[in-house]
Formats: sequence, C-alpha cells, structure tokens
Amino acid sequence: MTADVTKGQATKAIHAGSKPGVPEEAVLNPLVRATSFYAAADSGFSANALNGPPPFIYTRWNNPTNDLLEKRLAALEGGEAAVVFASGMAATAGLWFSKLKAGDHLVLSNVCYAGVAELAHDILPELGVQTTAVDTSDVAAVQAALRPETRLVHIETPCNPILRLADIAAIAQLAHAHGVELAVDSTIATPVATQPIALGADYVVHSLTKYACGHGDALGGAVIGRLHDMAALRKTSLIHFGAAINPFAAWLILRGLETLPARMAAHQAGAAAVAAFLKTHRGVRRVLWPGAPSHPQRDLARRQMRNFSGMVSFSAAGGAALARRLAERLEVFSYAVSLGKTRSLIYYIPTEELLGAAFHLVGRDADAYRDWTGEGTFRLSIGLEDPADLIADLDQALAG
Ligand SMILES: *Cc1c(COP(=O)(O)O)cnc(C)c1O
Repeated sequence: MTADVTKGQATKAIHAGSKPGVPEEAVLNPLVRATSFYAAADSGFSANALNGPPPFIYTRWNNPTNDLLEKRLAALEGGEAAVVFASGMAATAGLWFSKLKAGDHLVLSNVCYAGVAELAHDILPELGVQTTAVDTSDVAAVQAALRPETRLVHIETPCNPILRLADIAAIAQLAHAHGVELAVDSTIATPVATQPIALGADYVVHSLTKYACGHGDALGGAVIGRLHDMAALRKTSLIHFGAAINPFAAWLILRGLETLPARMAAHQAGAAAVAAFLKTHRGVRRVLWPGAPSHPQRDLARRQMRNFSGMVSFSAAGGAALARRLAERLEVFSYAVSLGKTRSLIYYIPTEELLGAAFHLVGRDADAYRDWTGEGTFRLSIGLEDPADLIADLDQALAG
C-alpha cells in the first residue's frame, strides 16, 4: 500500500512503504545493518551522477531500513519524499546548509528549540547568512522581517518550550507571495496533529527522537518535502555532510511510528488531565497547553491541530527553588530533558538564562516571552502513565 493516500494515519503508520511479497515484511520491518550492497556494474561512484531514486550502494546514501522510514514519514506527512538524518539537529542543519548561501537571509521563530536558535545566531552569520528571529505567532512581524535576500522562513509550532503556535497557512501564503519557502518544525505536533504540507509548507522538519520514536531510545531526524528538493538535500546534506542515521535507530523509530496515533491520543488525554489539575492549583501562575480553553491561540489550535499533543508548560511562584524541590520530591515524573517518551518528564527553564544564552531577545520580544513564562517555565512532557498518578505526584511535590 505504498501509495495508498486514502488510508487513515493509524493504518499508514503501520503499513506505508512496505512492499508486499517480501516474506519477512509481512510481520516485521526489515533491519538491514549492512553498510554496503552488491552494486550493478554501472552504478557510478559519485553522488553527482545520481539521478532518480538513490540506489542501495552504501548506507550513507541509502539503506533499505532507512528507505522504509523515509517512505512511511512521507506518507504520514502527505509529502512526496523524505530524507532521514542522525538527529533533528542534523536534519535542520542539513536543510539550512543545502538551501542557504552567503548573502541569503533566514527568518525564524524567536522562540524555538535552543539548539536551532543557537545554530542560527552563532553559526550562520559566520558563513555570510543573515538571520532575523521574530515572534512567528504574529504574521505581520514575519512580513516585516522579509527582505529581498530572504530565502527561507523556518517556524516551530507548537514551539519549545512555551507552546506558542504559528499560523502555517497564513505564513505559507505570505512567504510564497514573496518567493520565499517555508519550513515547519512539527516535532511537537507530529503528523497525527498537523500536516504542514497540506497547509502550504514546503518542508516539514522533525526530531524523530521525540514522539516519532516515542520510547527515548533512538536519535533521529527527518525532512519531508518535494521529490526534487529531497534529492538535492540527500546529495548535499546526507551524502556530503554525512549525518546518516544508524539503521538500528531507524528500525526503532519505525517500530515507534506504528503506535504513534494511539500514543498521541493517550498523551493528549494525560496532558488534558494534568493541565486541568494545574489550572486549579493555587501555587500555579499560568498553564499552557494548546488544547486548553485558556490557551491564548485556542482558535488557531482548533483550526490547525487535530490532537493537542502531550506537552504542558506552567509557571509558578518559587522558580528555581521550586524546581529543586520538585526534582527531589517527584516520584513518577523524571526530572530530565527531552520529550515524547512513554515516561513523564519535567524540566525547569529559567527565563533570563534562555533569553540571554539562546534566544538573545531584548525589548518587546523579551517582554512578550516573560509574559508567557514569568521567571521560568516548567516544561512537562506527559507520558503514558495513569493521569491520576501523575496528578497525585505533582500534588504531593507542589504542596508547600
Ligand atoms: C529535540 C528537538 C530538536 C532537535 O532534535 P535532536 O533529535 O535532539 O537533534 C529540534 N526541534 C525540536 C522542536 C525539538 O524538540
């Protein structure tokens, strides 16, 4: 059912890309660990000679397990093709370095995964690529940032760590009207919630390490987009930069994807329960979850997301001291970074540290961030435990 676009997400998550007729595939995604393959005599030796689908010659170019993961991701995102990488950072860097040349300009979300913000702020300008970070929840701010040299707008929605949303359809329309492409980091939404390509995005970027894998045991990343763009990306960023995913990690992520729709439903239910509990807790100042009636972009969330994901952030009186207490007292939650695993995680992100070291926000943009977080934000990744146990755990740890 490789090309069966009429199937639902849960069916695609298990079957898309599999070829009927290969016996072991009836029951299992094949794990092919080989680094090289018997080649046709006319296979060629240079990636520059590549045209058409990449053959299985060498695993950094392509590999049957990685290829199946690419096909499955493309099907889930409704894109023509995908390229998988060793991590989400490798996917983002791969996309940017294949698209942006000296003299070009990038517009990106001013609140996003810290590694992505740091890559844009610290590395790209040294290579002659100018960047402008704006509040992408404000389409007018994106418009004001566009220049004649702008090549790419890169947004993250919901964004890490404050779960602020960006309107994909509106930004795609704006970018295209200026001849600019749009990339959407959809790690937190997953294809279960949102399919950015259908809303006009040119590229979807994922850290597969998170919900796609789902079990916290494999790093991976992906870019999904048009066939010819993915061919160019494979040549530059995979074959020449070399950040190929280990096929065993790809196999773990394929296994994770099979339960992604079911897991996202459970993550959402747990997040709804925890967000509702926190909302009523007297020590808690502000709770953010895209599915909550109190989320400032509730209407956009309903329009753009079919599932509100499992990330909740809250701010509370006590800041860093409270973080220490929670790290000590919580028993079901783990005090740890990352997100999208079976087990629930919590992490405290102090506002001024993030603003200064990663986001470099000043003035109105800094004030807008502080307005969402206060002195710091607790980022929760709600896992698959019983919501009642998660709530009881938070309740006992928050008690003064
Ligand atoms: C984790 C994350 C990344 C980076 O992915 P890695 O797999 O850790 O390299 C990028 N974007 C978002 C939104 C993330 O959460």
